[in-house]
Amino acid sequence: MSIFVVPTGMIDALERITLKFIWSKEYDKKSIYWVAWENLISPRSVGGIGFGSIKSLNISLLAKWMWRLKTDSSALWAKVIWCIHKLDGKHWSVFANGSNNGVWKNIVKTRTFLKNFNIEPKEIVSRNSLEGRWESEFTSDNHFMVCFLRERIELSSHMVNDGPLDWDSHPIYDMLAKQGRIPSAVALCQRGITIPSTICGACNQEEERSDHILITCTMARMVMDNILNWCEINCERFSLVKDMLLFASRWSECSKKNSLLNMILYGMLWCIWDGRNKRVFEGIPMRSETIVERIKAQMFTWCKYRPSHNKAD
Ligand SMILES: [Zn+2]
Repeated sequence: MSIFVVPTGMIDALERITLKFIWSKEYDKKSIYWVAWENLISPRSVGGIGFGSIKSLNISLLAKWMWRLKTDSSALWAKVIWCIHKLDGKHWSVFANGSNNGVWKNIVKTRTFLKNFNIEPKEIVSRNSLEGRWESEFTSDNHFMVCFLRERIELSSHMVNDGPLDWDSHPIYDMLAKQGRIPSAVALCQRGITIPSTICGACNQEEERSDHILITCTMARMVMDNILNWCEINCERFSLVKDMLLFASRWSECSKKNSLLNMILYGMLWCIWDGRNKRVFEGIPMRSETIVERIKAQMFTWCKYRPSHNKAD
């Protein structure tokens, strides 16, 4: 993938295998895809899961050769390339020469791909004549970062625009909860799956929809009241998950406090969903006090083990 352009047919086949791996227990059986491929591959900064596409990885790996050819110019492989393609020393001659052949022909095609995403070659590598060194928009500590370029390509081609996904304990579930699309009884019914009843089994009052399970059901309300009380937060009750998360993102002027509250609320949503599944699939009735204790225990674990760059002081 770092030397050849991957054919479109092969990319499609690999993406189909990836989708099957994510959503299906058995490869040959049909399954429901709860999140669109676009949402899975879009960067997290715009609300995607951040998997990235195979095409963007392929282009980014190929583009890295532009950087390497300039910065490793004294290496034997670079000298061989210069000799084979009879380069004249001009900055972009190696990529502008349409008569390139062999393996390098694939790498030269990168320039066209990048133009399609509004990325100029000089962003990949350019000469800082004042300091006498090569620079790039996609480096960290003077190392070319394929992931930086890949994210730029994804941002140029896929935009979910649902706000950043703030927490990453269960990213696919978090996205579905935020969009009000978890596999509730009503959602399964809408996908053609036969369900004995779409009425919520916890309260027996309303249809079991995503936001009902997580926010408006009696069980969810008791858990949420308890957790907000634990956080010493007084606010009006919510009716949608996205409203609750919006409140959390604006709760305090301190972004780290908001991040911490977001983490607690995402943890709460996960534990409510997990409690619902234990009741539905294992017949284990979950009390709100049990779910609250699980949320607090989970918060302790997450705070202890989450990455240092994501920690609140
Ligand atoms: Zn209910």
